[in-house]
Order: sequence, then C-alpha cells, then structure tokens
Amino acid sequence: MSFPITPESLIKTIKGVFPSLQQLPLHEPRFSGNEWAYVKECLDTGWVSSVGKFVDLFERHLTDYTGSPHAVACVNGTAALEICVRLAGTQAGDEVIVPALTFAATANAIAHCGGIPHFVDCERTSLGVDAEKLRQYLSETAQVLDGTCFNRTTGRKIKTLVIVHVFGHPADIDAISAVCNEFKIHVVEDAAEALGSFYKGRHAGSTSELAALSFNGNKILTTGGGGAILVRNPELAKLAKHLTTTAKRPHAWEFFHDQVGYNYRLPNINAALGCAQLEQLPRFLEIKRRLHETYASVFQNSSGVSLLAEPTYARSNYWLNALVLAPSLADQREVFLKSMNEAGVMTRPIWTLLHRLPMYQSCPRSDLSVSENLEKRVLNIPSGVGLGEALL
Ligand SMILES: *Cc1c(COP(=O)(O)O)cnc(C)c1O
Repeated sequence: MSFPITPESLIKTIKGVFPSLQQLPLHEPRFSGNEWAYVKECLDTGWVSSVGKFVDLFERHLTDYTGSPHAVACVNGTAALEICVRLAGTQAGDEVIVPALTFAATANAIAHCGGIPHFVDCERTSLGVDAEKLRQYLSETAQVLDGTCFNRTTGRKIKTLVIVHVFGHPADIDAISAVCNEFKIHVVEDAAEALGSFYKGRHAGSTSELAALSFNGNKILTTGGGGAILVRNPELAKLAKHLTTTAKRPHAWEFFHDQVGYNYRLPNINAALGCAQLEQLPRFLEIKRRLHETYASVFQNSSGVSLLAEPTYARSNYWLNALVLAPSLADQREVFLKSMNEAGVMTRPIWTLLHRLPMYQSCPRSDLSVSENLEKRVLNIPSGVGLGEALL
C-alpha cells in the first residue's frame, strides 16, 4: 500500500509509534545510571573544577571505547574542533575545505583559527563530503607545489579538510582520505554527532590524525557541555592537552606559560557525568537502532518521504533520525514544520547551508547543487533514548 504523505498523515504515523505519549521531543538526555552518584562524589569531595580523577577516567574510557590511542577532554565540541584544525597545521589566512551542509560550529572552529572555510558539496546517502566530486573539484581548483596544496585562484594554502559525520552517519572516510592524500591535505573529522558510529568496523574519528567529539546536551550522550579531541600521535596529544590547559608548564607552584594557551579543559563535574553516560552508551545505541528500525517499518510504504539510513559501509549511532521529503514537497517544508511542531511532534529542518550565513557568504565554494537540493527537504524527527524506551 502506498499513500501520499501530508503533514497530517506524517503526524499520525509518528504519533502511532508512541501511542502513550502526547509530546515527542526531538532529543532529550537520559540519566538513569551512575550520573547522580558520580556528580555527588564531585560535590562531596570538592573536586568540581579543572582537576580531578573523572577527567582522566573519562579520557581513558574514551580511548578504550573508540580505539583512538589518545583523548583530550575539552569544554565543548567546538573548542575541541578548533584545536584539531590548528594542530593540523592551519594558519591564519589558510583555506580549510569543509562541507556547506553542517552545523555552524564546524566553520566557526575554522574561523577561530584564522582559517577561511572553503565549501564543498555532499552526497545523498551519508550526507557527507562527496569524495569523487571533491577529486574533480580539487583537480580544477587546486595545485600541489613542493608538497603544499594551493588554491589556484586565491593563491592561498589549503592544508586541511574537515569532514562531518552528519546525524551520526559516517562519511566515506577512506575515499575522502585517498583524495586528500593525493592533494597533500590533512583530514580532520568533526565526529561531534558520531560517538558510537563505526566506519568499516573502526570508530568514527579513530583513524584520522585528529577528530573532535561533542557531549552537548542534545548529543547521544552528554556531559552538560563538553567535547574531546581524539588524536593518534602521542606528541600531538601532549600538545593538545598543553594548549587546552593554558599552556602551563607542569610545576608544583610556578606559573610559567610557554604559549598563548586556552582554557578549554573539561571540568571534573562534567567528566563525572560523562563517565556515567559512557556506561550507558551500549544501551543507548541498541535503543536508538530499535527506534530507527521502527521508523523504517512505518515509513517503508510511504510515498513522498524516505527515512535516511546508514550507508552500507557503516554502522551508525542513529543519533537523529531524518526524513527526506520528495523534491515536489520541498516548497511545503514550512507547512510540515509548523503542523508537526504544533501537534507535539518536535521536528527541525536541517541547517541553513553555511555559505548563506552572513559571515561566510564570500567564502570560496564549489558547486553545491546536491546540498542545495537537500537543504529544503531534510527534517529531523523525534529520536531520543527516552522515546526508544517507550517502545519496549
Ligand atoms: C554539536 C556539534 C558541534 C559542536 O559541538 P558543541 O559541543 O556544541 O560545541 C560541531 N559540529 C557538529 C556537526 C555538531 O553537531
């Protein structure tokens, strides 16, 4: 059976999945484990701020889980990504390749290092950077001189590319890395949405030199606010820790800072929350997968809308479920958004493409036709762990 989708039918379908719930939030944090105990321990002992055992524990658990050799906890994902982009060699005035279809923080992290975002297009299955289109584009736009990639038009260096795992679906890391190798460009992964996602069996962000995670309140797990740098090289890991902790030379009492450092460290109280949340991650992932499968079954016969699924090479964390409206429905997006939100089915559009934002509109960019085509068609629907639990 096939039925043409309307806002009303969409609301009915989604509400039908959760008959006992009136309001369906987009994504809420879930604290059902040791969160209370670990945070209480911070309060009881007074170790709430920049020093304490939970920061070290959290970093260790992150390396265990992701398989990345080093993790540096940070105050948020944007700060983590900024340090990654900087450690990848980006200097003021360099261009950094980045998809136009991502959260503003990805480009902000680049701009905070003085880099100039250079926008490229995505592909339809993962919503990640399209490797083949990237190769084509770089062949026309860039040239490698003495091991450094330059933009032929602007003359600026291109040292780094930031890929994004949109909604937790891993981009095609190997294919993109192969192109970047050809053009002598470092790959940094914005894995803010991808904790618990695997690319060909490897955790997202664990195989590139540098990657950033986020533990903001809306992510798959939260530390209140927080992030982490995943880094492979031990020297870079030390430098990341040093830079994010005011660049102070270790000493029992002396204040000697050898660079302009950052106060980007994650407070112990947030790390305590993170340790408890990480214990829940396998359960969260299972519940999210089940929620996705339920959505997949209720939408399988719908015409006019499709549910975004993990690419064949990946195992996604299914952080946020996304519906893709048929092209013919793109101009009705506002009607869908208004009706669904009013009916208690919290729905959000995908981001406004970054080259449309005032601070990035004069940045260099490739053809962005796929991103532009998807921009008005992708809607995120309720995806929290709490909703998945209501299915049990
Ligand atoms: C959440 C997010 C960030 C930023 O993380 P914060 O912890 O909120 O600073 C960066 N990139 C993407 C793709 C995100 O979803």
